[in-house]
Amino acid sequence: MTGTTGRPGRVVLLNPGPVNVHDRVRAAMAGPDECHREPEARALLGSVGGKITEVCGAGRDTHATVLITGSGTAALEAVVSSVLPADGRLLVLDNGHYGERLLRIANTHGIACVRLEFGWAVPLDLGTVDRALAADADITHVAVVHHETSTGMLNPLRELGALVARHGRSLIVDAISSLGAEDLDVVRDHVDWCVGTANKCLEGMPGISFVCAPRERLEALADVPARTFYLDLSANYRAQVLGGSPQFTPAVQVLRALDAALDLTLAEGVPARTARYAARAAEIRAGLEERGIELLLPPDRRAGSITNAHLSNGMTYDELHDGLKEHGYVIYATQEKSAGVFRLANMGRLTGDDITGFFHAFDQVVARCAASHS
Ligand SMILES: *Cc1c(COP(=O)(O)O)cnc(C)c1O
Repeated sequence: MTGTTGRPGRVVLLNPGPVNVHDRVRAAMAGPDECHREPEARALLGSVGGKITEVCGAGRDTHATVLITGSGTAALEAVVSSVLPADGRLLVLDNGHYGERLLRIANTHGIACVRLEFGWAVPLDLGTVDRALAADADITHVAVVHHETSTGMLNPLRELGALVARHGRSLIVDAISSLGAEDLDVVRDHVDWCVGTANKCLEGMPGISFVCAPRERLEALADVPARTFYLDLSANYRAQVLGGSPQFTPAVQVLRALDAALDLTLAEGVPARTARYAARAAEIRAGLEERGIELLLPPDRRAGSITNAHLSNGMTYDELHDGLKEHGYVIYATQEKSAGVFRLANMGRLTGDDITGFFHAFDQVVARCAASHS
């Protein structure tokens, strides 16, 4: 790579995970080969689970975290397929690609659903949610995406959590692209099932996802028949958390990396990470606006780790992407409903110099495109 990214071979990742990681996280994967049934690997699972529980804002006595080997969707599917009883009904709040994914997972398992579709990049309307819950006593669970990564919109978890709790229903949260970088507290926000992944704002490697939940709720899953074998949350909880040994072979090296990443997360603290991400996002947003590029959302709706912007000057996404890639910067497209938009994520270990370097490359790519179009 002949890039401008500061280090030979370094690629700057502006996609929403996997992210650029700390050297300590990468190094953690290069330890001795190991067996997942040995005491040191069991201790690793306990350590990682406990630290995630802490990042979620909960106590290890009241809550537990179940680790699943697989990307974020694996843990989402484990929750959706494991927690709804046969006569349960799920209210899905959908204002983007990942809201729709929750619905598709539930549909795959034949779970009864009510969908509230607000539209792509449209804020959730809590009055509508309130009325939907009041009108349908059979709804047992509500599922929502905290940070809708497809649009960069942050949904109002705190207010929604209070509302769902007031109606006595159980809340499932896809916190995959928010945990570690946004304000989230499973106790304060009444989140029963909090789903996250290793390789986004926790700044680990891909391959492990997880669910943090009250132990009481996890215990009660014993009464719900499993819909899948591998992703049976109750069986994984009993083996891993109660039995101290994982049900199946976990991605041990990825767990080593995650353990190191969690140490870094806890040492930095979520508020400081939120501020670090906000600084990068502000540099990105200012750089785009200086160049007359229009951003998708109003400032008060934006999460701190993604900026969606409109393509301009007749440049196609592929031209922009491929040009930047030659310089060592990876950007991200959006899902189909938003053609004409590109995404810049600032999750991971990015510096202000990375963003300066990015705009230097960006200007060269735009100039070259303009020359080739004229
Ligand atoms: C990344 C992401 C997922 C999961 O994607 P995987 O490719 O399975 O890791 C789910 N929900 C949201 C909001 C995400 O950003």
